[in-house]
Amino acid sequence: MNNKIWLSSPHMGGSEEKYVKEAFDTNWIAPLGPNVDGFEKDLESFLGNNVHVAALSSGTAALHLALIILGVKAGDEVICQSMTFSASANPIAYQGATPVFVDSEDRTWNMSPEHLETAIQDRISKGSKPKAIIVVHLYGMPAEMDRIMEIADTYEIPVVEDAAEALGSSYKGKQLGTFGAMSILSFNGNKIITTSGGGALVSTNEEWIKKARFLATQARDNAPHYQHSHIGYNYRMSNICAGIGRGQMEVLTDRVQQRRKNTEFYKKAFEGNNAVSFAEEPDSDYYSNRWLTTILVDDASGVSREDLRLALEKDNIESRPLWKPMHLQPIFAEAPFYGDGTSERLFERGLCLPSGSNLTEDDLQRVIEKTEACFNTVLSK
Ligand SMILES: *Cc1c(COP(=O)(O)O)cnc(C)c1O
Repeated sequence: MNNKIWLSSPHMGGSEEKYVKEAFDTNWIAPLGPNVDGFEKDLESFLGNNVHVAALSSGTAALHLALIILGVKAGDEVICQSMTFSASANPIAYQGATPVFVDSEDRTWNMSPEHLETAIQDRISKGSKPKAIIVVHLYGMPAEMDRIMEIADTYEIPVVEDAAEALGSSYKGKQLGTFGAMSILSFNGNKIITTSGGGALVSTNEEWIKKARFLATQARDNAPHYQHSHIGYNYRMSNICAGIGRGQMEVLTDRVQQRRKNTEFYKKAFEGNNAVSFAEEPDSDYYSNRWLTTILVDDASGVSREDLRLALEKDNIESRPLWKPMHLQPIFAEAPFYGDGTSERLFERGLCLPSGSNLTEDDLQRVIEKTEACFNTVLSK
């Protein structure tokens, strides 16, 4: 059997162990300590734009706290991009609120501004103004932020940016994760940088970030005994994980370069294959970290996305269909949806190719050969 080629696997830079060892040497083995503070500072200076950062146990926890701080309560409605990972929508349900799903547009595959505005107007006409808008930058590609922010401002609804897949991407030269009233990042094992598991909440509003740290550490009031006037959570990042994060921040820019190179490599290799197309950056305003390289397979070629996925799997190569839209998920079947079928079409045709920053040229070549072989088998029938 050939060695496994993963979709996106952790890629250490080298100095992670130094920070983790420091935590051991100084006995900071807790959900606080110098690495947590240092990692937050590293993220703040990378993102710029006067943001403050709270390092947390996961991106999902960050999104949950964002909704709590924005005052989302049972019975409220929250707009969410339909085409995304379930972690974008689950925290809405944690609060007992209802997600209202909005379809994607063709250029970035992210939230369609048109359908967003239709959804807002329709929900308002039904007497339920949405409390927040969760927009996602899928696979690192920036959403159409100018238009989305303009609509959000018009209706005075706060935007929560799910930048879990988009650290290192930018829109009009501004880092993603700095547009929303609040934004979230993820450092899960498969993301562009990892802390083995972790996340962060980002905002220019320092009070909100302080509140997030308070809620994330069991909401302990200032008293010598344990005194509580809020429901708290155990959502803080550990000093060990943050040590990994500090090491990873030293190589983030390299990781973005390497992933963008993967995309270029695949694009060049499939130039002559009309059945394969790529998600392009619409223009120079959009800079994607290319967390995952994604393709659309034209099934008029006789090869479906699933044929290709199975052919790769046979050779021990991991690929994955695009995110299945939330409005098609059994758990959200009752939720309102505004759209025209774009995300459904993308899901049916789209595949994520192996995209790790640690893939060798031989690995990429193997993916390309197996893909071409899959098309050639069908064509020769
Ligand atoms: C990974 C991811 C999350 C969740 O992050 P975790 O750290 O795994 O909880 C949220 N949204 C999107 C779009 C993601 O890809």
